Amino acid sequence: MQNDNNKPLVLIVDDTPTNIQVLAETLRADYRVKVATSGQAALDIVGREGGKPDLILLDVMMAGMDGYEVCRRLKDNPDTHGIPVIFVTAKNDAQDEERGLRLGAMDYIAKPFHPAIVKARVQNHISLKMKTDLLESLALIDGLTGIPNRRRLDETLDAEWKRGLRNGTPLAVAMADIDYFKAYNDHYGHGGGDECLKAVARALSSSLVRPADMMARYGGEEFAAVMPDTDAAGAKLLAQRWCDNVAALVLPHACSSAGGHVTVSVGYACQVPEAPQSPQMLLEMADKMLYQAKEHGRNQVCGSQ
Ligand SMILES: [Mg+2]
Repeated sequence: MQNDNNKPLVLIVDDTPTNIQVLAETLRADYRVKVATSGQAALDIVGREGGKPDLILLDVMMAGMDGYEVCRRLKDNPDTHGIPVIFVTAKNDAQDEERGLRLGAMDYIAKPFHPAIVKARVQNHISLKMKTDLLESLALIDGLTGIPNRRRLDETLDAEWKRGLRNGTPLAVAMADIDYFKAYNDHYGHGGGDECLKAVARALSSSLVRPADMMARYGGEEFAAVMPDTDAAGAKLLAQRWCDNVAALVLPHACSSAGGHVTVSVGYACQVPEAPQSPQMLLEMADKMLYQAKEHGRNQVCGSQ
């Protein structure tokens, strides 16, 4: 049996209490239900910790902020953008419906509503939402930069570690971090920050020349590479190429003391895999080296073997 807290959460927004009652009764057996009697109250609930619903049933005609405006604000906010919205409305001319759908609503339910239809539509959209969430969590590509993500890198690292263990061949990893990226974001805005991440990701990717090497966005402004059958000298070559190729972009960075343009610091580590150790320890060593490169003044490489 599903415990109540695992049930999807549906938020019902309507300024007519009897409508809320009927909808809530229809859905209560299968979902957790929250209610709001105004647009502002709905936005407050959604913004609260743990209040993010899996689906919203939204009345269009409400005093104060109407349903269209609530929907627009939800879709404008990256945090709430993915929540499916179904409009529930007595207005049922095509123009109104088009307006709602253009704002990003998933569907329309006309009043007076039939509980069985409401139930079926809610169920369809919830199951679609669950599938989308699952696909996103399984994805191996970073959405912003289009290069592999951390999950993919961790899988590759594990596999290459095991291969090195069997074959007695060295394995190297490198980690790069954009220098003064927080200051970059503050100065150029998040849109500018995103463009910078994409440009750096391209420069780093194009620095990899051997087919067996792979790299990923490891998180935030951090990138990592796995290099099978590579010794410290080989790892150092890539690390230095990373530094050089990012500097060669000559992207202006008004808040960097590392030369007035965007640069990266890089740490690398290398070892022949051995049984009591783990690939995670190799990554941690590279991260430690990265930290040293930062300490020594950034825009440089630091490594250990
Ligand atoms: Mg109303």
